[in-house]
Amino acid sequence: MSSKHCRFCNAALERTFVDLGRSPLANSLLSADDVERGETFYPLHVYVCDNCLLVQLQEFARAESIFTDYLYFSSYSELWLRHCRDYAEQMTKRYSLGERSLVVEIASNDGYLLQYFKQRGIGVLGVEPAANVAKVAQDKGIDTDVAFFGRETARRLADAGKSADLMAANNVLAHVPDLHDFVAGFKVLLKPTGTATFEFPHLLNLIEEKQFDTIYHEHFSYLSFLVVDRIFAHHGLRIYDVERLPTHGGSLRIFVCHADASFARTGRIDEMISAEREAGLDRIETYDEFADTVIDIKCDLLGFLVEARRNGKSVVGYGAPAKGNTLLNYCGVGPELLSYTVDISPHKQGRYLPGVQIPIYAPERIFETRPDYVLILPWNIKEEIMGRMAAIRQWGGKFVIAIPALAILS
Ligand SMILES: [Zn+2]
Repeated sequence: MSSKHCRFCNAALERTFVDLGRSPLANSLLSADDVERGETFYPLHVYVCDNCLLVQLQEFARAESIFTDYLYFSSYSELWLRHCRDYAEQMTKRYSLGERSLVVEIASNDGYLLQYFKQRGIGVLGVEPAANVAKVAQDKGIDTDVAFFGRETARRLADAGKSADLMAANNVLAHVPDLHDFVAGFKVLLKPTGTATFEFPHLLNLIEEKQFDTIYHEHFSYLSFLVVDRIFAHHGLRIYDVERLPTHGGSLRIFVCHADASFARTGRIDEMISAEREAGLDRIETYDEFADTVIDIKCDLLGFLVEARRNGKSVVGYGAPAKGNTLLNYCGVGPELLSYTVDISPHKQGRYLPGVQIPIYAPERIFETRPDYVLILPWNIKEEIMGRMAAIRQWGGKFVIAIPALAILS
């Protein structure tokens, strides 16, 4: 009956994880002219596979249209750059990388990560599908191949004599529609003694911290360690180490080698498997419960906004991240309940959130209009924002978050 099939095991997909209705693409901020036109909304209905438990979204918008002229430049976040510099330092030491080594990054963006390896004299190669972004890397002297990564690209590079000591894929595994083709490419390009690392948001955190707003169309798979372990094994690769990272509300970094390579499996693997089993990620019932908690969050946020309005209190947003678009579109919150939001990125100021059409201003606007409440949309950096905007307390302003549960922060 179902025409949808699991991206990993091909079983029919029939079981809903959560249905967030229809939403526009989360990264497509609108100009003033766009607001006058119609917008395309796509289903944001997440399924869990009964057979392999992969949580996934169908591909409604072609990956090419999302990623080929991508606005996001990784280099803009200082915190993220520090994370990358630390990674380069750790990997260089752990794998004794030097002048004759080659580090390949998949979805290398503007070269934000590879620059730290290049500074150490290590050979680097980026693979990046967005030509405008790759150009920025090339201008910085970072060799970048403009392509989507998969078997074909890996073979072409291998045929040209490339073979990677280290491959990095940060926040890309969850974003590829064709998981098999993508992972198979690593098998081709990785040296027999090489390591590939992958970072991706951890499904365990999504479920436990109710981070349903990290669901958006560009994000096709929601990954547990248990499922990822099976995906790599299927392609003759083996996970031999895993770390938990605080990025994106809780991520995993896995270390992968060829199945027959000599890397010893660390104790952290069994710890991770136990933690996921304890949380019930190996049982389908756990996934069935998630949808109800999401409805509760919607009711709580709407209840708060409606009551604020009835009491004559003003509420504005802080931040214009993709997760804010999921939250506000799902909850149906427009400018009548959240009059505007602000963002430090000049690329976002003067534009509008897609779907709900809430205007985005510079943060100074908050000091001019003195709202009663500031709803923080990027809850993952709430401490940083509360520090930066602490002066709202001078007029009795309060911070609010909606996830994992509605809270007014003092
Ligand atoms: Zn499956």
